[in-house]
Amino acid sequence: MIESNVNPAETGKFDKLAARWWDADGESRPLHDLNPTRLNYVAERVVLKGARILDVGCGGGILSEALAAAGANAMGIDLAPRVLEVARLHLHESGQHVDYREVSVEALAQEMPNSFDAITCMEMLEHVPDPGSVIDACAVLLKPGGRLFLSTLNRTPLAFGAAIVGAEYALNLLPRGTHHYAQFIRPSELASALRGAGFELEDLSGLAYNPLTRRAWLVQSTQINYLACARKPS
Ligand code: SAH
Repeated sequence: MIESNVNPAETGKFDKLAARWWDADGESRPLHDLNPTRLNYVAERVVLKGARILDVGCGGGILSEALAAAGANAMGIDLAPRVLEVARLHLHESGQHVDYREVSVEALAQEMPNSFDAITCMEMLEHVPDPGSVIDACAVLLKPGGRLFLSTLNRTPLAFGAAIVGAEYALNLLPRGTHHYAQFIRPSELASALRGAGFELEDLSGLAYNPLTRRAWLVQSTQINYLACARKPS
């Protein structure tokens, strides 16, 4: 599953957005708006200063750079080469240090087992053919006791309405075709993949977002977008 767990049509879609990734009013606007809330979610559960952190499917590095700015020793991986180029270029602007690599998470797991204190993998699982394979690889990459942070979209009519009809069609917030409903993941499916990889699920929280006020906050309901934190047993 090492080289095959990627859909080039998906990474190609993101490559097209590369040049505008850091434009907080462009197509990555929701990622910019969600970032403080998800960073805070991670920071409440891991001491970021000095921690070795991997950001899987890092895109242009919105979260990777925020982790680095909080003192983490951050590595970001993605399989969209133009997006990674933008991520690397942005370091010149921000002055942050992130080690960006074009490598699959499965290949990195073979190269660097038991290496990271925490792994973040946000808004990425719903774009890969086999999300379970990504979770398995993260289990290998984490040090015992390390934590995995995931975010994705639930497969509910409400998520279909908000993330596809609302964001892609009504508000033109995201390019049409960004998301495919069938690839959305139910929390129960995520929990079972995590259990299968040996993780202990510590938390599931909903992530609410108001595109008009551009505010994001945690909620109990995981009906649309949600975050998960899981721990690799010591
Ligand atoms: N995690 C970032 C970017 C989310 S966009 C953030 O939340 O800010 C989804 C990203 O997943 C894109 O950059 C895309 O290129 C990447 N991606 C899709 N399939 C991938 C795969 N199989 N391996 C690594 N990255 C992948």
